[in-house]
Amino acid sequence: MLTDTQLFINGVWRPASDGGQTAVHDPATGEVVGHHAMATKADLEEAVLAAEKAFPLWRDTPAIERGAILHRAAALLRDRVSEIAQVLTMEMGKPIIEAETELRSAADILDWFAEEARRIYGRVIPSRSHNVMQLALKQPVGPVAAFTPWNFPVSQLVRKVAPALAAGCTMVAKPPEDTPASPAVLADVLSEAGLPAGVLNLVYGNPPDIANYLIPHPAIRKVSFTGSVPVGKQLASLAGKHMKRITMELGGHSPVMVFDDADIEVAAKDIATFKFRNSGQVCISPTRILVQRGVYDRFVARLREEVEKIEPAHGIHRETRMGPLVSQRRVEAVSNIIADAVADGAKLLTGGERINRPGFFYSPTLLEQVPAHARILNEEPFGPVAMLAPFDTIEEAIVEANRLAYGLAAYAYTTSIRTSQILQNRVETGMLAINHTALGLPELPLGGVKDSGFGSEGGPEAIEAYVFTKLVTQKS
Ligand code: NAD
Repeated sequence: MLTDTQLFINGVWRPASDGGQTAVHDPATGEVVGHHAMATKADLEEAVLAAEKAFPLWRDTPAIERGAILHRAAALLRDRVSEIAQVLTMEMGKPIIEAETELRSAADILDWFAEEARRIYGRVIPSRSHNVMQLALKQPVGPVAAFTPWNFPVSQLVRKVAPALAAGCTMVAKPPEDTPASPAVLADVLSEAGLPAGVLNLVYGNPPDIANYLIPHPAIRKVSFTGSVPVGKQLASLAGKHMKRITMELGGHSPVMVFDDADIEVAAKDIATFKFRNSGQVCISPTRILVQRGVYDRFVARLREEVEKIEPAHGIHRETRMGPLVSQRRVEAVSNIIADAVADGAKLLTGGERINRPGFFYSPTLLEQVPAHARILNEEPFGPVAMLAPFDTIEEAIVEANRLAYGLAAYAYTTSIRTSQILQNRVETGMLAINHTALGLPELPLGGVKDSGFGSEGGPEAIEAYVFTKLVTQKS
């Protein structure tokens, strides 16, 4: 059983003002394992006011002190990795090894932004007169409303909290209701590290109601959302209507291009591992695997061999490589989109069925000969499935890679510098990984273009999202 998750407002955990709560399930069994509070409007108002009141104090706290709190929180999080990983796996389903990796990565993100806090430089602009000084100052934008998803319940929240707090902003965050308990630990470690009350507030409840209350609120100056494209578009429109700054980290439909000259063994092993991480519920998960015709059969055989070794099981066992999907809703969505592809004429290479056991399990699935109009080649599948297709020329691969409105991540395997350079110039995504899959480190920009969103959640660019530039020009 998990402990019930309450609301964290002005430095205190407490139930919803009307006592409302909702059940949380273990995706590997379907059983209820806990509850989370459901914030009322009065609770949301209290959270916003706490963030508004804490802002001047936090903004004026020296950057080096803000960074020290983030560093202490990172150390406290590291100390609790094994305990929190169990909570994360129980509510989200991912294998315990992946949960531990996520938590260590969250601690790294806190550490990295703790350092970055003291590098928020402005600039001095040479003036046209000897007695005029012109400064471009970087100042925190103010209280932020943040919405984070269930697939990386802790690290997706840290990606917003760490740069925002480093920059001097305060926040009301709505972590995911499917997985409320593991992100809640972040409030605990930050409080224990010395974060003043009201700087970070966590609320749970009905997502559209919370978004509709927080985004237009005059005290909220910035909106940051990670989740699906349709919800991102709704929230971006609402933010636009109220003239709020936005960061949108949305879905993807990532192409992988495997060229004739690639190391096929490395590519097949990398993709088999990376594709089924977190049961494919990853925004940068490879989905459209394009393979040059000369190596197509060999690559498909090796990939299939690797994928067939994966046996989904409860994530709590250390040997588990793939757990269930997060919810009944997700397992139905994945079953339906794969069934539609097969009905449209796609060939199943492996998988393609729900696993006959309690919980929300679906087998790792590979499809080929999928018609271009099939839903799965146009909508983000967000599950343990990839579609394979051969190509002849680099031009053909690039056209397919750029065909969709998504533009988050792309991958390529090639030993040709020329091919690599063409891809760097022409692939329309926010991220491109060549001959490996290592994206998402704290120091690397993370974000998409086109429908995949706006802004970046890694590297110095992530801090930029939480500051504005103020010009000061002074004559003596
Ligand atoms: P969903 O769009 O219903 O929810 C995704 C997340 O957004 C959830 O955490 C949910 O609480 C939140 N949300 C939903 N409506 C909201 C609203 N009006 N205001 C604020 N938050 C809201 O989808 P789902 O079935 O839970 O997940 C599947 C889809 O979510 C996938 O298609 C995928 O694109 C997307 N997703 C993306 C990421 C990512 O990292 N970019 C992560 C998780 C989910």
